[in-house]
Amino acid sequence: MIYNVKVAKTWLLLKINRSITFVSTQILTSYVLYMTRPAMIVANWKMNMRWAEGLALADAVIQRVSPFVSPTLQVVLMPSYLHLAALGARLTSPPRGIQLGAQNCHHAPEGPYTGEVSVPMLHDVGVRYVLVGHSERRRQWDEGPTLLAHKVTAICSHGLQPVFCCGEQQRTTMQSALAIVQQQLADSLFHLSEVAMSQVILAYEPVWAIGTGCTPAPAQVQEMHSGIRETIAQQYGRTLAQQIPILYGGSCNPHNAATFFTYPDVDGGLIGGASLQADAFVKVVEAMHACPRVCLR
Ligand code: PEP
Repeated sequence: MIYNVKVAKTWLLLKINRSITFVSTQILTSYVLYMTRPAMIVANWKMNMRWAEGLALADAVIQRVSPFVSPTLQVVLMPSYLHLAALGARLTSPPRGIQLGAQNCHHAPEGPYTGEVSVPMLHDVGVRYVLVGHSERRRQWDEGPTLLAHKVTAICSHGLQPVFCCGEQQRTTMQSALAIVQQQLADSLFHLSEVAMSQVILAYEPVWAIGTGCTPAPAQVQEMHSGIRETIAQQYGRTLAQQIPILYGGSCNPHNAATFFTYPDVDGGLIGGASLQADAFVKVVEAMHACPRVCLR
């Protein structure tokens, strides 16, 4: 009897020990991957900035933002197609660390698609990132999940990186917002191989927050990002899920950016309105740069 109790105690202690080791390894791995995941600030100029204005804004941003850019903090400018080649040249000679992105692409490499621009064409002027699934394109151009999936495939297969936007239309409960986002991810991303998926950047953008000045509470954004990461983990495994940057977008500005960026699953921002003024945009970049995950590395 005494012997049995002793054996049971030892067995229990061993079990507890193993569980503690397992949980601490998981926490440590997540922390290491969190600390190595790059932070990112992406400027979406949308259909703004005439020729000279765009060049002036880019010059001001390049000059003031370059000192903050490093492998741990990446900054991407997404002007209209009009400015891409000129900005590409400005960003590469001399190299400024800031990357170039496009707001859209066609999924075919070439052909009779009047008014469209293909991924290889974007590649040739120095574009590295392409926005896909922005709510304005989903809504105003009727871009549906299948078309978005084709665009994502085209971007990845030419060695560029999609910045894939997802988010609910209206304010709703966390549970139904997450269900909407999960469906968007499944419809347009989950056909990708692991290698292609590892190139994707996600941007959670609740549509009701875009350009309205309203935002969810930062803690709710964290909860959503953590739910998104868990969804990716279930599909592609925990390591890959921990490597993917998840940005927040929707009225993110110099006044609220720092609060969003302190949360562990908020890896940066997709910035619309506040990217059109050098001062405001630089402050958003500074807010990310001041976070321990960036400035302590
Ligand atoms: C956007 O359109 O991607 C966006 C985030 O816009 P804003 O920052 O103006 O809400």
